[in-house]
Amino acid sequence: RYLSGLARLDASKTIIEKTTSPIAKLPKDQLVFGQSFTDHMVEIEWDAKKGWAAPRISPYKNLSLDPATIVFHYGFELFEGLKAYKDSNGNIRTFRSDKNMLRMNQSAERIALPNFDGEELMKVIDKFLVLDQAFVPEGAGYSLYLRPTMIGTSVGLGVGTPDKALIFVIASPVGPYYSTGFKPVALEATDYAVRAWPGGVGNKKLGANYAPCIQPQTQAASRGYQQNLWLFGEEGYITEVGTMNAFFVFQNEDGKKELATAPLDGTILEGVTRDSVLQLARERLPADEWIISERKFTIGEVKERAAKGQLVEAFGAGTAAVVSPIDRIGWKGEDIAVPVAAGNSGELTAQVAEWIRQIQYGETSYKDWSRV
Ligand code: PMP
Repeated sequence: RYLSGLARLDASKTIIEKTTSPIAKLPKDQLVFGQSFTDHMVEIEWDAKKGWAAPRISPYKNLSLDPATIVFHYGFELFEGLKAYKDSNGNIRTFRSDKNMLRMNQSAERIALPNFDGEELMKVIDKFLVLDQAFVPEGAGYSLYLRPTMIGTSVGLGVGTPDKALIFVIASPVGPYYSTGFKPVALEATDYAVRAWPGGVGNKKLGANYAPCIQPQTQAASRGYQQNLWLFGEEGYITEVGTMNAFFVFQNEDGKKELATAPLDGTILEGVTRDSVLQLARERLPADEWIISERKFTIGEVKERAAKGQLVEAFGAGTAAVVSPIDRIGWKGEDIAVPVAAGNSGELTAQVAEWIRQIQYGETSYKDWSRV
């Protein structure tokens, strides 16, 4: 809808109001994901009659919304998650943010919220990052997590297309997901609760997809598993793990190894990390030794191949941890053991994590994946 002749999201109109009471920065070892924020935030209002208002960057504050605001009743909310990294020259880099902007627009489209020019939002975020750059922690594994969010802000209890919306962006300094080497996770393969289904919205980053996953996660935790391995259908297709895309490495009988992940059939979130793993693996792993597959596979296949010694390694992939090694999967009362080598991760898991880290921190330049 940003093409409709109404005001477009325009970063050059950004109004900046600097804080007069800066927040004390926490020491690096006290950073907890999503618990502390920076001095400022971004807000951009949208009105169906006018389009996008001038973006504002102002001191971090509470939002003030009428209790009848549509977001509180019918779930008009979507979000993104991406990180800004400090490189060794002190530059701040975001990783593949164009992918996040595209996905944010696709989420908005699906729940009748307005579209916007993603490059303009990134230009506003650039200004925000320049202003709050002192909050971007330095060092491997450290970053500033950015949370662009859009909500419907029409007031009234009618269920319909919101005629008002708000984009806001907040930022949280974060430390390494694993402070001392990798720490593999145990998964519980879950079929009694389903995360996403064909024709549903599992491929969109809507808040509504996340709340229903917590109760099954708590149940898995009570049985000693950190995350759910979300299955789909009678066949038990593997879809995703917790809030990460799932990758499995199999040893095939012809001697080749296969890196497999579920295809983008509408039930999988199209992870930026997933796409990065696939692109780098296709480019950098020798083609005579590896097959890189986006294909359907089931928990039954994983169990069978583990029993034959053909399960090499498995990991989750997402912005938070980049990769998260998996060491066991609970399924129908038994555990499938997943090999993890020295350093608590499979060989490819560690390799992929390193490839991505080098690009994120600007040690290697790769395509246009790093925005300074
Ligand atoms: N799947 C789900 C359900 C997620 O919430 C996320 C995190 N955004 C991912 C996968 C991984 O996506 P990304 O690599 O873009 O962080």
